[in-house]
Amino acid sequence: MSLDLVDIGANLTHDSFAEDRDAVMARALQAGVRRLVVTGADLASSRQAAALAAAHPSRLWSTAGVHPHHAQSFEASQRGELLDLLRLKSVVAVGECGLDYFRNLSPPPAQRAAFIAQLEIAAQIRKPVFLHQRDAHGDFAAILNDFDGKLQGGVAHCFTGGELELEAYLELGLYIGITGWACDERRGVELRGVVPRIPADRLLIETDAPYLLPRDMTPLPKSRRNEPAYLPYIAATVAHLRGETVEAVASMTTRNAVALFALALTGS
Ligand SMILES: [Zn+2]
Repeated sequence: MSLDLVDIGANLTHDSFAEDRDAVMARALQAGVRRLVVTGADLASSRQAAALAAAHPSRLWSTAGVHPHHAQSFEASQRGELLDLLRLKSVVAVGECGLDYFRNLSPPPAQRAAFIAQLEIAAQIRKPVFLHQRDAHGDFAAILNDFDGKLQGGVAHCFTGGELELEAYLELGLYIGITGWACDERRGVELRGVVPRIPADRLLIETDAPYLLPRDMTPLPKSRRNEPAYLPYIAATVAHLRGETVEAVASMTTRNAVALFALALTGS
């Protein structure tokens, strides 16, 4: 069986991949994870992610944006550089952007300002948004509502919510990104209950590597580092929860990823 999966969220510029990134990418390919979207979290990592994607056409693409944790460092002067990155063909989405009131590493007003600024950029550049939200659903949904009809789609990355949040995001037209959180029988109880309710044309899967190692892996890797090669475990869990085959989940999530991010293969 040869899968054709897309990991729509891998932090491949993370330090933990500095020593063996090529081996990590080779293992991903062997596992059927043929295409990956590398996440940018601030200007520096977005620059690195774009360089990585440019060096691996038809395998890697990237996002460019400022994560809510770094919102405080986002200044109007960075807007131009962000736009320059987003004009690159291999940079396919604006993000991670959004709100995170769980840790509030940046003050909420700075988070909202950076989020709105990036939604404006996304509307201007006509690329989808890669969204991060934690403990901020109300403000997050309200801000997105203000951009209704102006965006080129987006994904609620690492969705961990329940039915109400899911309904709200589907209503906003978003895709839903499912990580190894769904493999956690304790923390993921609520999420596992709603995974079957995600429409086939809105479902995406992602590792969020090196974070969120799927808990149901046996044996658990000693390093505890998550990597894109483990995406099939998430696909299998999602398939199990939905009562579908892994092949069906692979084909719907890959089709959705290609559609949302316009993952063109070289020469096409
Ligand atoms: Zn995130």
